[in-house]
Amino acid sequence: MDNAKDLFLGVDVGSVSTNIVAADEKGCLIEKIYLRTEGQPIKAIQEGMKRLAEALGPDASIKGAGATGSGRQLAACVIGADTVKNEITAHAVATQLMLPEVRTILEIGGQDSKIIFIKNGIVCDFAMNTVCAAGTGSFLDRKAGRLNIPIEKFGLYALQAEAPVRIAGRCAVFAESDMIHKQQLGFNAPEIICGLCEALVRNYLTNLAKGKKIEDPVVFQGGVAANAGIAAAFEKELKTKITIPIHYDVMGAYGAALLAIQKIKESGEPTSFRGFELIHRDYKTRSVQCTDCPNSCELIEIASDGEVMARWGGRCGKWAEASQNYINSGCRKM
Ligand code: SF4
Repeated sequence: MDNAKDLFLGVDVGSVSTNIVAADEKGCLIEKIYLRTEGQPIKAIQEGMKRLAEALGPDASIKGAGATGSGRQLAACVIGADTVKNEITAHAVATQLMLPEVRTILEIGGQDSKIIFIKNGIVCDFAMNTVCAAGTGSFLDRKAGRLNIPIEKFGLYALQAEAPVRIAGRCAVFAESDMIHKQQLGFNAPEIICGLCEALVRNYLTNLAKGKKIEDPVVFQGGVAANAGIAAAFEKELKTKITIPIHYDVMGAYGAALLAIQKIKESGEPTSFRGFELIHRDYKTRSVQCTDCPNSCELIEIASDGEVMARWGGRCGKWAEASQNYINSGCRKM
């Protein structure tokens, strides 16, 4: 690993976005790509890899790859990942590289959110929200549409509020009707937007941090960390300073790349990465039934050029294990 262009990839496939990063062997982030998943994760991975290959140039040599996110098995299969880890681990690893003493990570994405507690460098507790929109970015997206204000400007508007109005935001539906009520009472856009940011923060903390102690230092990341109004609302509610990492929007993918570096260094094995040719392959996903026992579980199967690459789903985990073994074996037949 002595070539200056030896790089490690991290891929984070979520329901809203697919993030891909390249880092050098010291863990410095060299390139990052952000795409909307738009319900087509394989297409998003291929498009992201295409853009990454163009950005890195022909001298790039990929020495390892990691996958994370809700679509991590799929991503691992498509790219040939050396390591597959959940989002909690990936986020914690990336954040600790940036701020080793971090104790609490607040992460808010487009459709989900999480909180991670770290003690002595180890994740000691966490919580995830994948069902309640009121504590995620989609809450603000919908309100931006109603107010006819671009979501990118929400933070600036919120910071202009002289006195935020309290929006009752225990759920996204109540928040909407209360927001309309407050508009009718004559509150201006900055006051309403600041109130929405504070409602999101209260929802997030109520859903994810109830009964848990938020200790300093606190790091805020995920796509919503771009919104200065939310960051200010967190600081006000928690009465502490929060840190936003420079690569706040791709921390999951960055963590996956760091985990790939660790895996390759520890194992000394060559990477399973399939190469950028994967962007030209034709992938097919279908539903199949496992007949190996009376449970008859439904499985998701992914194949490329007639070759079955992975199956997952099922109650016993045998196919997830078989798929991982397939990737680890350099993608010989399943
Ligand atoms: S996936 Fe496991 S539990 Fe389900 S049918 Fe197959 S062997 Fe049985």
